This record gives sequence, structure tokens and C-alpha cells, in this order.
Amino acid sequence: MDDCIFCKIIKGEIPSYTIYEDDIVKVFLDINPNTNGHMLIIPKKHFLDINDIDEETRMHIFKIQKQMYKLVEEKLDAIGCTFAQNNGIAQDVKHYHMHLMPRYQNDGWKNVYDKSHIKNVEEIYEKLK
Ligand code: AMP
Ligand code: ZN
Repeated sequence: MDDCIFCKIIKGEIPSYTIYEDDIVKVFLDINPNTNGHMLIIPKKHFLDINDIDEETRMHIFKIQKQMYKLVEEKLDAIGCTFAQNNGIAQDVKHYHMHLMPRYQNDGWKNVYDKSHIKNVEEIYEKLK
């Protein structure tokens, strides 16, 4: 993918604060972090999203998530972490990536939602079960 910024990072055409890499993934710091140590775990091969990525690569990313969590516990004294992986309308960069956001006491984390459109839980359950 010629115009993909994450492919450019993989190719070394755009610099990144690389934390870890192997044959399958690269891990680097997010340039606009939500918490200290916010990083992205991305496959070296271009996949769009969760529907596109192969299971073997996805499972490898799962493994690396755990290793990177250990790293931020040890090196940054994180006492938790939040993972996020956006798809579709939620996804800005169209190259599969897993966010790891280390968590700290009083880290300012706020989940802000306008819940005015939220339906009854039972109504949603009826559709999903
Ligand atoms: P998403 O909304 O899940 O697609 O998030 C994309 C993330 O990529 C955002 O958190 C951006 O801050 C991050 N990002 C965009 N460009 C770069 C870059 N060149 N280096 C590191 N992180 C980036
Ligand atoms: Zn790409």
C-alpha cells in the first residue's frame, strides 16, 4: 500500500519510536499519546482491519500485547493497561493496529459518551442472542 503511513513506517520512509520488532510485527509509540507509553502494535504486512487480518498474525499480536504490557509495568510502572483496536468508522489509519495504553493512578482517563441515544439493554439483547 503506497499511500499507507504505517506501511511507510515499516519501510523506514517515516521515522518511528520503535520499541520492538520481529518478522511479523512492529511496535512503536503513538505520536499523539492518550497516556504515557501509548503504543501501537502493527503487522508488517498491510491488513485493513479485523476482517482482513489472518488469524495467525492476529494471534501473534495477542502474544506481543502481553509482552508489551509486561514491559510498561516494569519500565514505566504502569499499574494497568487498556487495549483498543478500531474498525470501520472508528478507524483513522486503515492499516490494522492494536493500541496499548498503559494506565496509572490519576492518569486523567475519561470515557466520555453522549448516552442519549442508548437503547434499553434488553432491546439490544433481543437482537443479539
Ligand atoms: P485509529 O483511530 O485507531 O486509526 O488510530 C490511529 C493512531 O495512529 C492515532 O492514535 C494516531 O495518533 C496514530 N498515528 C498516526 N500517525 C502516526 C505516526 N506517524 N506515528 C505514530 N503514530 C501515529
Ligand atoms: Zn499499510
